[in-house]
Amino acid sequence: MIKIADRISRLGTETAFAVSAEAAAFAAQGHKVYPFHLGDMNLPTPANVVEASFKAIKEGKTGYCPNVGIPQLRAVLAEDINASHGTRYAMENVAIQPGGKPTITKFIMALMNPGDEVLYPNPGYPIYESQIEFHGGKAVPYRYVEGTDNFAFDMAGLEKSITPRTRLLVLNDLQNPMGAECSPAELEKVAELVLRHDLYVLCDEAYFDIRYEGKSRSLASLPGMAERCVILYTFSKKFAMTGWRLGATIGPKEIIDVVAKLNVNDESCPNHFIQYGAIEGLTGDQSEVKQILATLKERRDTAVDILNSIEGVRCFRPNATFYLFPNVTGLMQKKGLTHYDEFRKAMLTETGVSACTRLHFGRALPGEKDFYIRLAYSGINVGEIKEGLAKFKAWAES
Ligand code: PLP
Repeated sequence: MIKIADRISRLGTETAFAVSAEAAAFAAQGHKVYPFHLGDMNLPTPANVVEASFKAIKEGKTGYCPNVGIPQLRAVLAEDINASHGTRYAMENVAIQPGGKPTITKFIMALMNPGDEVLYPNPGYPIYESQIEFHGGKAVPYRYVEGTDNFAFDMAGLEKSITPRTRLLVLNDLQNPMGAECSPAELEKVAELVLRHDLYVLCDEAYFDIRYEGKSRSLASLPGMAERCVILYTFSKKFAMTGWRLGATIGPKEIIDVVAKLNVNDESCPNHFIQYGAIEGLTGDQSEVKQILATLKERRDTAVDILNSIEGVRCFRPNATFYLFPNVTGLMQKKGLTHYDEFRKAMLTETGVSACTRLHFGRALPGEKDFYIRLAYSGINVGEIKEGLAKFKAWAES
């Protein structure tokens, strides 16, 4: 037997991909599947981005480029973030990455020592816990609670979890899987805690621009925070570029210099020619980007309306992200189901609706009584949302 390195036992995974594989196997048996499980997109990348990338290939931008990306893109992205965040980043504050995800690992590698405690959201994107533990840190969860219009930050719980060993905070405002976001007052309180306890923050802003109403806010915009925040930026969602793999780490130069060294060690440089497409995405015609948002908003409203018409299901209408996190406690009780996976499998086999559950976003926390599932509507058209959720409703009410 091959002896795999001990550290691998600490590495987690994204179990949503396993749900996706299960749904594909079910579909291969001839069943209709409604894919609500993965935050992937079935919308095309804007044509101007595609064309600018092709042009760059034809012009020979196919060799290595600087480790932290081409200077033009770093400068344009710094300007773009400054315009939306009111910050004063320069090119030196930006390291281009192969996607949004690498920023999570690089932030942890740059700032966390083994034994350090890191606060992270649970339910939350599973890679935080995986990477904290893989690198020998202690992952300390904080939670969100059901508010009136959306999930709310459990500030008291967060504050109580801070110890002298706490070094980092992961803040995924505009949150996956719950679509939660902090109010201005909550962000100010977080900033105060960060300063008081000398913390550094990963601001995972993967969904900053996936917003239907109002304006997104960033912790990095608050006084004294740009010095303590590292922003995870990605082109994946705003420009429907999940498979292109392009994003950026944005933060204090001292940290970006470390991230640059990690880039050299990991991938040498991000994909060269795609970066020209990204410049076009940021500076060129925005009509397709707007269309992506309009399409997602229609899907959100369609899904939320149907879900809230089902007895035993309660669903908020988040202003940002493309996720819904309905409370299905009543429905599970009605069906006599007490385990998440039983519910998920019954929903798939009886209705074809494939979704993740709360447990795909971290272990249940002590005292958790309610049950939730997560629906992503980024990869399913309005017609299929209507059809799939109508079957779900019929099953729920049968
Ligand atoms: N952060 C969050 C909260 C996400 O939901 C995702 C992807 O779903 C990522 C980061 C990673 O994004 P990317 O696909 O750009 O690596």
